[in-house]
Amino acid sequence: MSFTIPSNELITEALGDISQLPDDMKMAVTNRIEKSFKPITQPRGGDWLAQHEESGQTMKSFQMNLSKAAPHGTHNTIYIQPLGSFDHPRAPPVDVINEFARAFFSGCEVELLPTVDFTNNMKKRDRDGQPQYLTGDIHHYLCQTRSKRDSRRELLSVAVTMADIYPEEGWNFVYGQARFVEHVGVYSFARLDPLFYRATAEEIHRTPLTEQHSIIILRRCIKIILHEVGHIFGLYHCIYYLCLMNGFNNETEMDWKPLHLCPVCLHKLYSTLQFDVRHLYATFANLCDTYGLEKECKWYRKRLEYLQ
Ligand SMILES: [Zn+2]
Ligand SMILES: [Zn+2]
Repeated sequence: MSFTIPSNELITEALGDISQLPDDMKMAVTNRIEKSFKPITQPRGGDWLAQHEESGQTMKSFQMNLSKAAPHGTHNTIYIQPLGSFDHPRAPPVDVINEFARAFFSGCEVELLPTVDFTNNMKKRDRDGQPQYLTGDIHHYLCQTRSKRDSRRELLSVAVTMADIYPEEGWNFVYGQARFVEHVGVYSFARLDPLFYRATAEEIHRTPLTEQHSIIILRRCIKIILHEVGHIFGLYHCIYYLCLMNGFNNETEMDWKPLHLCPVCLHKLYSTLQFDVRHLYATFANLCDTYGLEKECKWYRKRLEYLQ
């Protein structure tokens, strides 16, 4: 798969018409761009772009995507549904992840639902002695239980789980999968522990969580949730800068993707949510500060300075 790094002209075209944006958003997508946003690099070996053909999504093509989620009327709430036990000594704090999602999707309500268990109807298989659940059955569950949530407020709902998941026979696993038309998705945190590929489930359970690992796990979980909910908001994979919406094949590739949207993707999300970008950046920076995401806190605070 050969990937051509997009020219400045193509990036400007992808960004689209910004003439109607309020001043702070105009600044956010034009000011000191080269200081804050790294260009996309030529992919190597196992990287996502080396294995997947991505043509990029311009602002124009984003606007033509009719299945994207967009708040309308009373439908303004993102529900996060924990599924299965989070009673694990190394489980990420779902309430903190919820706080990050609330700050990031500013303009929406984000609500964490009480944990529910897997049902007998959800198909599972055995993977190295651990159950692995079929994503389609979880999507089906989210659609079937819509009436138990507040369906007048619901914009989209996503399940998060510590269990491993798979999309169909023939696949080893998947980090997550959405059903775009129904605005539901499911995301697994199972493989985001740095020990996942290095130890058995029992050994992982016994290993005390270091501060370093807890930050790695939290950062990865937040990236997965924001990236995947971004897809439900109609954002395709980004090829214009290093960006939260870049595709990734594994945790290593995920780790060097940033926890922010590039100007093109920010413009797309803004066109749907109409957030106050300064408020969003300030709130997100404070959360990063509180939970030890130092480099991200620095980035958001620096970016805020460029919007003054
Ligand atoms: Zn993706
Ligand atoms: Zn982007």
